Order: sequence, then structure tokens, then C-alpha cells
Amino acid sequence: MSVSVGTIPHEEHATKGVGIMSDRPVYDELPLEDEAGRSGIWNIVDRDGRLNTVDGMFLGMGSSHRPEHKGHPGEQYAPRGVHCSTCRWTEIRIFRDTSGRFCIVNCGASDVAGERDLVRVSSVATAFELAESLMTVDRRTRQKNLPMPARRALAQAASYNDALRDAYINSPVTRS
Ligand SMILES: [Zn+2]
Repeated sequence: MSVSVGTIPHEEHATKGVGIMSDRPVYDELPLEDEAGRSGIWNIVDRDGRLNTVDGMFLGMGSSHRPEHKGHPGEQYAPRGVHCSTCRWTEIRIFRDTSGRFCIVNCGASDVAGERDLVRVSSVATAFELAESLMTVDRRTRQKNLPMPARRALAQAASYNDALRDAYINSPVTRS
């Protein structure tokens, strides 16, 4: 029996949405988990009011949002310093743009009256840099770790990109 290694059946070469440059949808809202794999152009306004345009594919998202309030009985919103992931939470989104760079959108979200979502947009060239850039250092223990929203976003994104899958499996930060 002869097997040619690395041969992919012809029809499986087609990757979702890539290469279709015409009629690309334009979005003014950040995508959600179930939209991973979608290609398009996202207009994202960051915390400084700057417009960032991401032209590429949405690869994954993770959120620390919880459905139940915690730690502020009798008060509608958690006071500053009280951690309640229903009032304030973090959303991490990963995109890959058409130039091949990975784009990270970090949203510090808030449902508290008078507060607004604070969005930061950054980009890196490689998957391992992406994993590193998602890492945070614990203020108390000084230990590096990959917080759950970032871990989930990276895990989801790993399904859409081989380099990310490699980084997800092999990066030291994902093994902690
Ligand atoms: Zn709350």
C-alpha cells in the first residue's frame, strides 16, 4: 500500500472565507464566541476614541462574565475594589488580519451605571508572542499566568490556525 504523506483531499484545501476579498461584511460591534471563524472587517473604537480597523478573521473569544452578582448584597452595583464578574468583567478576542498578524482586543467591560467599556487593541506577528502577550503577572505572588478569558480565547482560536494550535499546546504559559 502506498500512502503519500501530507496529501490533503482536494476539497479540504478551501479555508473558510479566506481569499474572498469582495463583498466582505463590515461590523461595528465586537463578535461573540459563536461567530468564530467568520471573516470580515471590524471597526473597533478603543478607550482613547481611536478607530481601529481589523480586516481578517475572528478566531476566538473568552470572557470572565458570570451570570450571578457576588459580594455586594443590598447594592445594585459592586463598589470599586469589590470583585463581581457580573458588574465588571474582561473579554479577550483574537483575530488574524489579512497580513497574517494576530490582533488582540481586550475589553474591560462594565454594566455599572456611569461606567463604560474600555477597549484596547494590539497586534503581534507570531502565535507564541500572542500567547506571551496574553499572560499577566499576579500582583501578590509575582507569578505569571494565563487568565481564563485569554486561555479560552486561545483555545478556541487554536481550531482555526495551525500556528496558534502549536502555541496553545507548546507554549510554557499554557501549561501553568
Ligand atoms: Zn455585581
